Amino acid sequence: MGDQVSGTDGTAQGAFPGMPLPLYSASPSRLLAWLDCPRRYRMQYLDRPRPATRPPRAHTSVGVATHHALRDWWDLPDEVRTAAAGPELVRTSWIDVGFRDPDQSATWLATVQAEVTAYLGGLDPRHPPVGLERTVAFRTRTIALTGRVDRLDDRGGELVVVDYKTSRRASTTDEARTSLPMALYAAAVWKMFRRRCVRVELHHVPTGTVAAHTHTDESLTRKVAEAESIARDARAADAQFREIGVASSLFPPHVSSLCAWCDYRAHCPEGQQVGPERSGWAALERAEASGASLASGDTS
Ligand code: SF4
Repeated sequence: MGDQVSGTDGTAQGAFPGMPLPLYSASPSRLLAWLDCPRRYRMQYLDRPRPATRPPRAHTSVGVATHHALRDWWDLPDEVRTAAAGPELVRTSWIDVGFRDPDQSATWLATVQAEVTAYLGGLDPRHPPVGLERTVAFRTRTIALTGRVDRLDDRGGELVVVDYKTSRRASTTDEARTSLPMALYAAAVWKMFRRRCVRVELHHVPTGTVAAHTHTDESLTRKVAEAESIARDARAADAQFREIGVASSLFPPHVSSLCAWCDYRAHCPEGQQVGPERSGWAALERAEASGASLASGDTS
């Protein structure tokens, strides 16, 4: 095909007329990264070699350990799959990275052990999920989407997408309703399992609360169209990046309070104006200061 020049819509000029555009391959995280900050998107997904990121933060360690413990619980033999298994599962999953000091790590280990144990107490161990950390995918004429569902339940014949949340603040039904990733997961499950899937749930592990939403066929269709619209913009930007690299103006920094938490801040002069950078354990300290016994992934 020789050298090609990309148009502003991501088309490859010089391609045969009528040739379909390549699908934009993405996860929900990639789509949201594009919306949040095109500069960060570029560094995370396009720049090669990828710029070095800052070390992982403690609230990320807490979130990962919680997810692993809740996943591994289902692998236990029936006779020991009880809430009492929670503390040991958290202990073996614990990631001692990002904390201020060993005391803070130990304090949060105990906190998360208690939260996970309480959450497990509300589950029926005889009713395993249909999927755990299940990869789901679907394609449209624009996008090839791939994602991973924390848990997929079958509730009396109805498939339900469950996402675990470990932030300081409990999730809201509005967040469940508007979440683009959750809607895309439901659409992907529907396609893969050939069974209608419209209910999505955010399970806030620290409080055991559930924020749920039941989509309609129309609302899921709107969310897929939203993803396609984002994908078209990102695909066009990707194409220009392939042509002119960092000279592209399609990746401006979106400076906000989130810059204080950005993993790529060291490479972003504009974002460094928002300061100071948050420490690896800052989110946990905010939770401690508020009196919440919660792990925090909430960086807003
Ligand atoms: S520091 Fe802020 S503006 Fe810069 S890449 Fe990160 S989020 Fe974007």
